[in-house]
Amino acid sequence: MKNTNELYKSTLAALESIDVKIEDIAKIVYDLQIEYNDKITLQECIDNVTKVLEKREVMHAVLTGLAIDKAVEKGEFPEPIQSIIKKDAGLYGVDEILPLGIVNLYGTIGLTNFGYLDKKKVGIIKEIDMRKRDLKNVNTFADDIVAAIAAAAAARIAHGYGDED
Ligand code: MG
Repeated sequence: MKNTNELYKSTLAALESIDVKIEDIAKIVYDLQIEYNDKITLQECIDNVTKVLEKREVMHAVLTGLAIDKAVEKGEFPEPIQSIIKKDAGLYGVDEILPLGIVNLYGTIGLTNFGYLDKKKVGIIKEIDMRKRDLKNVNTFADDIVAAIAAAAAARIAHGYGDED
């Protein structure tokens, strides 16, 4: 359990390093769910985002994606992939494949939500996307990772999971 805790702390720290808080992700979950369930509360969304983030596969995906962004930001990747990730080239696509490890844990609803958020880019996802205008920032993986966490948490609620997945 100690290892999981360390991993969890590192995951939250990685998200904080890109100015993303659990509440920011929970707000997106809330907006996704309110249409289907008008009794949903922000606290419930926060709890569900937390549950998603506690899963080892999710923490691994978050840490991997955000570490790639950071390394590319520092110019540490070899060419030509350094430039491709830095530009967030439309045909790159690995930034959308990696987060599937997060959404796949919650079935088809997770995948559908992810596709929707990837297109709509709402809330904190949009903010992350806007940061790309500052060329020093690399957020190629960050927006998709955050969208996947929100998509998974919304799917978790839709599936009616309680404390256990
Ligand atoms: Mg991306």
